Amino acid sequence: MTHGADTIAAIATGAGAAGVGAVRVSGPLVPAIAASMLGRAPKPRYAHFAAFRDAQAELIDRGILLYFPGPASYTGEHVLELQGHGSAVLLDALLRRCISLGARLARPGEFTERAFLNGKLDLAQAEAVADVVSATSEAGARAALRSMEGVFSARVDDLLAELIALRVHIEAAIDFPEEEIDFLADPVIGEQLAALRANLDALLVETRRGVRLNDGISVAIIGRPNAGKSSLMNALAGAERAIVTDIAGTTRDVLREAITLDGVTLELSDTAGLRDSDDIVEREGIRRARAQLERCDVAILVTDEGNVESDQAFFEGTPNHSAHIVVVNKIDLHGTRARRKRGDGVDTLWLSARTGEGLDELRDMLRRLATAGAGEGAFSARRRHVVALEQVEAHLERTAEALDGAHAGELAAEELRHAQQALGEITGTYSSDDLLGAIFSSFCIGK
Ligand code: GDP
Repeated sequence: MTHGADTIAAIATGAGAAGVGAVRVSGPLVPAIAASMLGRAPKPRYAHFAAFRDAQAELIDRGILLYFPGPASYTGEHVLELQGHGSAVLLDALLRRCISLGARLARPGEFTERAFLNGKLDLAQAEAVADVVSATSEAGARAALRSMEGVFSARVDDLLAELIALRVHIEAAIDFPEEEIDFLADPVIGEQLAALRANLDALLVETRRGVRLNDGISVAIIGRPNAGKSSLMNALAGAERAIVTDIAGTTRDVLREAITLDGVTLELSDTAGLRDSDDIVEREGIRRARAQLERCDVAILVTDEGNVESDQAFFEGTPNHSAHIVVVNKIDLHGTRARRKRGDGVDTLWLSARTGEGLDELRDMLRRLATAGAGEGAFSARRRHVVALEQVEAHLERTAEALDGAHAGELAAEELRHAQQALGEITGTYSSDDLLGAIFSSFCIGK
């Protein structure tokens, strides 16, 4: 199957690499366009040295012409690549020539979208193409490459196969209502479900790590007003972004800042002092802060000597899988030295956001958290994938509950159907046009 009767063309440049570029064309008109550009029919997958000419036979540029007949091509359609000397002006002239020969300008991501629609890549792999291009760290790029190669998709497919096997068992039970009870009492079903849930949990852990490798980690800075949250964020970000004042409650919104440590992106957000307030603006800030808190990877509680214990309540609402760090701030006021204490799941750091003493230790910790598990086999992922896996988790939990109750078969079957659908959204087995539009429009043109 090939998608779309029309032929698309675009300039494909390596991200940020000036002067490296080619014109890429895909679609049914490619053999004709290639023959016009070369003056004869091109050999498949052969590097022809060609003189590219315009409609008046005027030389545009000399360069390499590559022809990949479909379906053995990136998009699955006939694909042509014209590599010239790479100047933007010459590439533009080449592109216009292809368009005069019948191609139209490609939309962002349209080559990869066609590759997906023609079954060359699944949706998670297609997303990884964009992530490879936009990677800001070496670990992130390596992880995205693995996802592009299908490492993540293979894990999702394995889970899908297990899920379908379980569905088959349970659907069979429904088909034989007289024997349903016997069917469902079969210990194999419970074992299959337990194994499936364990494998899902393991994949969820790795997928969350994949999002961190892709997007960096999301760090929420929490604590009472005037603890020094804005100051700490400014110190980490190295710029006066948050408003620092002596009046309690001045941080009225979630201020976001992304900083890069050794190529690892940390997304910081300074949450408003989470106290009850009558002020509408402040209440909105508090609402957003809570939402931010619910999805953070790391929560930093900023406090001072006297409030370490009582301020632990601020960690409430952080996800179970998040790391917690307690920062005892303003050591310059007490003449204490910077130090670190490792605790049970919580590390405590004494530092001064004002003088910067002890800040390097915090940077080190954040860097380590961001790259944790970035080694062998780690793949990249997106938040969308985590959300889908969490939905699967919820459906499997309800499947387990259903199997204990009345109408066990039908309820369990219904939950498993939803679970399969949520899982299928990751690789695009199930996907709405809206989702595809949102994903591919975020690509750059020519990819
Ligand atoms: P927030 O309300 O938690 O965001 O607190 P701010 O960052 O606005 O800080 C409140 C006040 O404490 C400001 O006057 C800061 O200058 C001061 N402050 C913050 N960190 C330190 C520190 O490490 N040492 C000292 N001496 N003052 C600090």
